[in-house]
Amino acid sequence: MTEIQPTLRTLSRLVGCTPLLAVDVRFRGQARRIYAKAESFNFTGSIKDRMALHVLRRAHESGALKPGAPIAEATSGNTGISFSALGRALGHPVTIFMPDWMSQERKDLIRSFGAQIRLVSAAEGGFLGSIRLSEVWAAETPDAYLPCQFANEVNVEAHATTTGPEIWAQLASAGLRPDAFVAGVGTGGTVMGVGRFLKGMDSGIRIHPVEPSNSPTLHTGHKIGKHRIQGISDEFIPSIVKLDQLDDILSVDDGDAILMAQKLADRGLGVGISSGANFLAALEAQERLGPEAVVATVFSDSNKKYLSTDLMKVEPLKPGFLSPEVELIGIGQAI
Ligand code: PMP
Repeated sequence: MTEIQPTLRTLSRLVGCTPLLAVDVRFRGQARRIYAKAESFNFTGSIKDRMALHVLRRAHESGALKPGAPIAEATSGNTGISFSALGRALGHPVTIFMPDWMSQERKDLIRSFGAQIRLVSAAEGGFLGSIRLSEVWAAETPDAYLPCQFANEVNVEAHATTTGPEIWAQLASAGLRPDAFVAGVGTGGTVMGVGRFLKGMDSGIRIHPVEPSNSPTLHTGHKIGKHRIQGISDEFIPSIVKLDQLDDILSVDDGDAILMAQKLADRGLGVGISSGANFLAALEAQERLGPEAVVATVFSDSNKKYLSTDLMKVEPLKPGFLSPEVELIGIGQAI
């Protein structure tokens, strides 16, 4: 039997406390700096480790998750990788329900951690179908534990107690205070949790959720189009997302996000597509407040899980894209 407490303590040292990068660019000819948490430094390489670790810790504390009991979750990818690795490390069988169109790297990683994977086709309901099927599975499986990341306040708490305070402390150590924070919304845990903490420190700090302009779920409340920013804008507005507690929604075209991620990689910063979107949205937020405004965001994962996707292809330019107006100067000092 896996010893839960020592393993949780070890995992706690491998999740969070990520570097805050200062990325310097010229945007429309003007010198700009954006701060971004390098979340690929987490145990399995994405921001979702923070949520998974906190949820599993709390579930063990409350007794909702018994030692050795099976865990299942519906996810578009990174969450599945996090729950697989952390769940297996803690001695649990793990089953992941996910839409079948997610990248091959994500599916292979989940399988490599010894988790079962159940792919759900668009005909079976895609993302919402994955959630429904995981609930059916839980009802039929004794002692099953479902983290329910889309509805679980502990997801928000994970970011309110780690990501948010880290950003505040890292900026403070450089003598700075944040004026705005932006983050793409998958479950919304990141933007709601960081938002809760930062607005608690100073209610004037802007907190902007980000979504793809070609599938604006937050604007419409449901899925209306296809997009390529894996990990955000899943098909519905999660119940933990409270738009009335946030500032206005920023939209980024998925092609523009790909081009921005490519541009960051070209200077050595290998980030995923949602990080490209977050970076452009951060520049947009700064545009509203002035070039000196301190704007922070997250680079949720690295480019490694996107080697089979459009991130590795030539992306056509479209009118209105922001990325062609960004010239990367370099990665300033990490805090
Ligand atoms: N980017 C990527 C790559 C992700 O996997 C996720 C999580 N689905 C997000 C952004 C969004 O994070 P959150 O679920 O906290 O909204």
